[in-house]
Amino acid sequence: MFDVGRALAVLRRAMPAWQAPVVAEFARERRDPFSILVSCLLSLRTRDETTGPASRRLFRLAETPAALLRLSSRTIERTIYPVGFYRTKARTLRALAQTLLDHHRGRVPTDLDALLALPGVGRKTANLVLTEAFDLPGICVDTHVHRITNRWGYVTTRTPSATEMALRATLPRREWRGLNTLLVAFGQTICRPLSPRCSSCPLNAVCPRRGVGRAR
Ligand code: SF4
Repeated sequence: MFDVGRALAVLRRAMPAWQAPVVAEFARERRDPFSILVSCLLSLRTRDETTGPASRRLFRLAETPAALLRLSSRTIERTIYPVGFYRTKARTLRALAQTLLDHHRGRVPTDLDALLALPGVGRKTANLVLTEAFDLPGICVDTHVHRITNRWGYVTTRTPSATEMALRATLPRREWRGLNTLLVAFGQTICRPLSPRCSSCPLNAVCPRRGVGRAR
């Protein structure tokens, strides 16, 4: 049986050598739930190298829901370009700001269901905001967490949402915090989607490499 606690401890020790994911960097830098929520939305289907500068450009113009609403969709589009789906995201950001002002006194809510009811917010974003912005328990499963925990054989699932449910059932709560940040950094650096770098992986001796074909 794969010892997930030990594996995560090994990765935590190796983590300082890897680039932290952009949303985690913002969480460290800004400590502001609205900025973290906005950078999560910008990061969807977008590489970190693009999300980081686009988020900073937008935060220079607007740091609150009220300030964001004063910007036109066109201005937001131009500011966040070239993030993926920048036109849709510009409209979603304005709708999000309006909803926060109308229903949450301009604040980001702190519970999962209220977050999931916000425009543009799915389970991945909601869980990431809970953990990164509020230090609350949550498991944010994106493609990295889904792929890696399946390669370990710790879960056997077909979709990220099934992985989230499986991890919620089996992963000890003390391991939830920081799981996404750790596995995204690991997935971008070593356990990459295509051709993972197994020969330089600190888990090489213990990983069953389920579903891994070509590896380096
Ligand atoms: S040994 Fe390979 S498949 Fe297993 S965690 Fe490391 S990089 Fe990923």
